[in-house]
Formats: sequence, structure tokens, C-alpha cells
Amino acid sequence: MPLDCYITLFGGAGKIGGNSILLEDKESMIIFDLGKDFDKYRKFFQFPFTMPTKSVQKELIKTRLLPEIKTSKRQKLPLYVDYEGTEILEPRVACPLQHVFITHPHLDHSGFVTLLRSDLNIHMGSMSELIYSSNIETRKDVTLENKLYWNLLKKDEIEPRLKILKFHDGTGIESDRLRVIPYSVDHSVPGAYGFVIESSSARIAYTGDFRFHGPAQNLSKKFEDRLREENLDVLIVEGTNMNVGRVGSEEKVEKDAHELIEKSFQLGNKLAIIEVKSSDIDRINAFVRVAKSLNSTIAITTRVAYILDKIKRSGLEARLLHGIPKLKDEVKLFAKGRFMRWEKELIEKHEDMEILDDKAIINPKERTVLLDSGRFNVFSTTPPKGSLYIQSISEHVSEEEEYDEDRFINSLALYGLIVYRLHSSGHATPLDLIRFVNEVKPKILIPIHTEHPEAFHELFKDITNVIIPEKDSPIPIP
Ligand SMILES: [Zn+2]
Repeated sequence: MPLDCYITLFGGAGKIGGNSILLEDKESMIIFDLGKDFDKYRKFFQFPFTMPTKSVQKELIKTRLLPEIKTSKRQKLPLYVDYEGTEILEPRVACPLQHVFITHPHLDHSGFVTLLRSDLNIHMGSMSELIYSSNIETRKDVTLENKLYWNLLKKDEIEPRLKILKFHDGTGIESDRLRVIPYSVDHSVPGAYGFVIESSSARIAYTGDFRFHGPAQNLSKKFEDRLREENLDVLIVEGTNMNVGRVGSEEKVEKDAHELIEKSFQLGNKLAIIEVKSSDIDRINAFVRVAKSLNSTIAITTRVAYILDKIKRSGLEARLLHGIPKLKDEVKLFAKGRFMRWEKELIEKHEDMEILDDKAIINPKERTVLLDSGRFNVFSTTPPKGSLYIQSISEHVSEEEEYDEDRFINSLALYGLIVYRLHSSGHATPLDLIRFVNEVKPKILIPIHTEHPEAFHELFKDITNVIIPEKDSPIPIP
């Protein structure tokens, strides 16, 4: 009897980064996540000096950075647009695949979505879509991946080219005769989801990225409870931390940050810079609380302000555990140099917001905590020596990191900045993963987003059939 159902990984097999999964059930098919593999990316490109800018064929396809998605019958799917420096060319042939589901806006899960043809249905949670589009809208570099998000025929790049549909927690979506039910999970970005997929032959779940030790841990727990009742045939589980666990909660990050900044102020320093992702809203809130309790001025960069402003206007603030800081009353805006259009609009819209420029950083008069979502350039704005620099970003370089860490640390050391790293992982710890799999007890287990799939095999081979996935190799689901 021919098999009906296949799962194929086109990224994230035996590695962290570049998740993309094709699920086929008879003639139906869906892609889950379409992320960038930064390891591969760095073989050809080095942010910000050389990036893909002109040619989909030469820069993304020839280099094999863009995954070539093929069905189990080895039919290549015409998913991507072409672009060679002038106009975006949509594929002329119809695509048998119509639906793409994205778990969350981190680039290793969503970085190649902008290359997709515009007639596809791209599904994201509302908060994911907000963060995803904000990240693109505020990027200063014009890479192909950013450029192709826009409808270039429209003047001034004001209209997105892609059709993004928003889904809701627990509400199933019928897609090509498959039913996909999104469930909220806790991760280092608000609005992350895992999925349950009902097909004619199997019940399948995909965790996306998740953890059980963050502020919204009850969501991951609810997802676990749900999956326990599902009697799953297949569980595709992320295993970023399967090899090495790190103890550390978000509360601990907040407590440590408080202690460090207080100590630094006591030494007579007036400035602390915190590097945090603009999408990590929970942590931004935590640092604002710390700065407030230390009676210091709080400054945020335009990129952070942009995303907070967008959340405010979207009405999605209520979905966040601690809301967002008040732009006018609680924080000041750090802005300097030549502004991009979105920055000008942001500043105009918030004319009552106090703006700090370079001087407030070079020679701070009062205790100041700056929340920055990029890499601070000490060559253009040099903070006083001894200032504290807290790095509070992802622990996995392959996930989102485009920057060269060594050079950056060299530049901070040169000007006598004191670097501390404070982080709580966005991913489940090994013990939580083990409990999760034991509880859910799927018939088939496929580890993804991990460098150690063999550990899953060793740990769970007695309770389930563990399949170590290989890239581009269809896994038949009996
Ligand atoms: Zn993630």
C-alpha cells in the first residue's frame, strides 16, 4: 500500500538554524517555518559589508542558501520569486502548495518568507506578524530579503507584497484539506506558537521554539497538557538545549541586572548600555523596571520605540503579561544623526517625548540606562570608560546572529567598557524536554533545531520510535 504522509526537513536537521518542514498528506501539503541558516549564510556573506542585494539566482539559489523544497515524489515546488536588480518576477506556473505557517518571527524560522511568491497564504500570529513586519520596516540595510517584502511597483515602498493571514490561539485553520491548530507557547519573543496538525492519516505536532521557564511558562504547559491528550502519531520537537542546560530564569536576569547596574553606579559610573532584542518585549519591560527602581533616566533607541509604538497602536498590548512601557512618561528617545523616514515619522508622532542625543551618552549628566537593540558603535559615539555594557541577547550564535562577536568585543574593550552577559535561554532545558517528551509520548519523535539528535535517540528509543532526520530526505509516516 502506498504511503500517504511524508515529513521532510529542509533545514534544522542536526543543527540549530534554518528550520523548514514540508508536510505532505496525499495531495495536500503545507510548509512550517522558512528560516535562515546563519552558518551557511556566513560562508558567503558578512554583515554588514557583503550582503545579498541584487540577484536571487546568484546570491541565494546558487549558494544554496534558499532551500530548494521538493515533494516526496521529488517534484520541485515553484515557491520563490525571482529578482535580478529591477523588478520582482512571480513564477508563471501554479504552485501545488498554498499554505505556509510560521511559528514565530525569529529569522531562523522566518528569514526567507520574503522570497515567497505573493499568491501563497502565509499564516502568522498577530503579534508575530507585528514584530516580523516591524523588523523589516526598521532595517537600515537593503538586503534582498528585506527588499522583496515590498511591492516594488508601488512608489516609496509603502505596501507589503505578501499576503499574511493572522491566526489565533486554539482556532483551527483548514488549509488544503489539513487542519492546523496553533497553540501559544513561551519563548523569547511574545506570540510564539506550536502547531497541532490533523491529517487524514496522522496527528502531528510541531513545537517551534519553546521553553518552560519564562514569564509565560503556563502557555507551554498548556500546550504540553493538550498534546498529552492528543495521542500523537508524530512529534517534531526542538532540542536547542538538549546537550547543555543552563539554569537561569527571566527573574534572575532582572535581579542580576539590578545588582550590576547598582554596583556600577556606586562606582561613580553614570551610564549602562543594555543590548536587548527589540522583539524581546518581556525583557525590555524587565530592564525598564530595573532602571526605574534605580531612579535613572531610561533611554530607548528608535528601533525599540518603533516596535513599542506599533504594539500600542495595534491594541495587542493587552496580550502581553506586563504590557509595555509608556513612551511619553517612562522613557526618553535616544536618536542621533540622519534619520530614516520611519524615524522621522516616529519622532513627529511623539513630539512630546524627550529626545537624547550623543551628548547624553558621551557625557551623561545623570544616571542613564540605554536600551539598544543593535550593536553599539563606540567609534561614532564613545561612552565614558568604565561604563557598563550588558549583553542580553540570544545564546546561540547560529540563531539570529549576523554580527561578528570578536570584533565587537574588541571595540568595547578598546574604550574601557565593562561587558557582562545576562541571559535566560529562550529554549527548554534538557530536563524540561525530557519531561515533555515522556508526557506527550508520541509514536514517532523527530528532533529538530538541535546539534544532538542522537541524544534524543538514546534517551527515548525505549518509549518511542526516534527518527533522526536528514535534510531533504522524506520521512514516511505509517
Ligand atoms: Zn526562536
